[in-house]
Amino acid sequence: MSDPIITFDHVVKEFKTRGRGANIARAVDDVSLTIDRGDIFGIIGYSGAGKSTLVRLINALERPTSGTVTVLGTDITSLSETKLRPIRQKIGMIFQQFNLFAARTVYENIAFPLRKSKLSKKEKQEKVKQLLKLVELEEKADVYPSQLSGGQKQRVGIARALTTTPDILLCDEATSALDPQTTKAILELIKEINRDYGITVVVITHEMSVVQEICNRVA
Ligand code: ADP
Repeated sequence: MSDPIITFDHVVKEFKTRGRGANIARAVDDVSLTIDRGDIFGIIGYSGAGKSTLVRLINALERPTSGTVTVLGTDITSLSETKLRPIRQKIGMIFQQFNLFAARTVYENIAFPLRKSKLSKKEKQEKVKQLLKLVELEEKADVYPSQLSGGQKQRVGIARALTTTPDILLCDEATSALDPQTTKAILELIKEINRDYGITVVVITHEMSVVQEICNRVA
């Protein structure tokens, strides 16, 4: 049975572009789609097609020009920043360039999203340990990102995205900076997370092979 977790209903996003004349770039043009709980949903397109804008609409870093975006049962189209907070907590994200803190260790990077959590110190330690195990980086807890390979950096990114136990994991070109073998291993890990934790995954990519490897549905 289908169980929508993200719904786009006739979503348009336009940007005013600078330069001569008042030009408008329509980055997202009347998109309607439904992503179900448990999906690994691929969004594929050429560079400039509007993929990043589309993901940024899911966590309301961008707001639609028209249409509505519903996430986890809430219409987030014009929700205040305060009301968005609990929804954003349920969305983890990983990036092509990993976006790790260079001056923090692997452990500290993964623990970072828990800094304001009500969990006890011990519970936080347990959580980070569990995640280190999941991404197979227990031995690297105390090293800095510069000492890691690309694949290991993305594993830290994945662990950090899961620290708050999200329902949704957004992957924006998460394997585009990795070699084919490392890409395969990271995609396997994403599949495992989807299967074992029931986390819905949205995969943004320009690579058809990525979609073929892990997605059950694609736009
Ligand atoms: P993709 O992720 O598929 O490469 P993007 O979503 O980044 O595509 O961009 C889609 C289009 O929207 C591009 O033409 C881009 O130049 C334009 N665009 C994206 N963000 C902005 C912005 N903040 N201001 C103006 N134009 C933008």
